[in-house]
Amino acid sequence: MTDTITAPWSSEQVAALEQFQTASGMHPFTCGADQHTQSPSLVPSHSGWYCPDPACDYRQDWAHAFMVDPAAWPRPFGDRHGPTPEEVRGIKTLGPFPVSADTLADVQARQAWEAQAVADHAAMTRRRALAFNAVQPVLAKHDRHLPLSVRQEIADAVLAAIDNDAEATA
Ligand SMILES: [Zn+2]
Repeated sequence: MTDTITAPWSSEQVAALEQFQTASGMHPFTCGADQHTQSPSLVPSHSGWYCPDPACDYRQDWAHAFMVDPAAWPRPFGDRHGPTPEEVRGIKTLGPFPVSADTLADVQARQAWEAQAVADHAAMTRRRALAFNAVQPVLAKHDRHLPLSVRQEIADAVLAAIDNDAEATA
């Protein structure tokens, strides 16, 4: 028999048990009563587990100690690409624990999106600079004193023509 913890449980423990039930990669605690056609996953509360079936009064006041320790789960936060146990501990010290699987996935997706946006913007800036540098000597050669904005517009127009052609032939 592994170590157990007995209710009442802290908010942190309840939150960890909620995560365990859905995201640990291990079988959740389910109601042991006979009347359910399917085994409902027990819901943790400060005073212990309860059965989500309104007609069922099953209660359980203990859990395995490892159930509140995401580092001990096969799949912390239910994602093979998720944080390592060390990272999970880091998250615990930074903010309210636990970060729900959805929230963490949202954060990672947003970070990936932002990184891509920064990369796209950098690539776009570089393309415009290259095009501007390419047309600059030609425009300067005739000494027309074209404003900077006009030179950039010309460079952008050249880029747009090339891009449209690339899309048409793709
Ligand atoms: Zn039940």
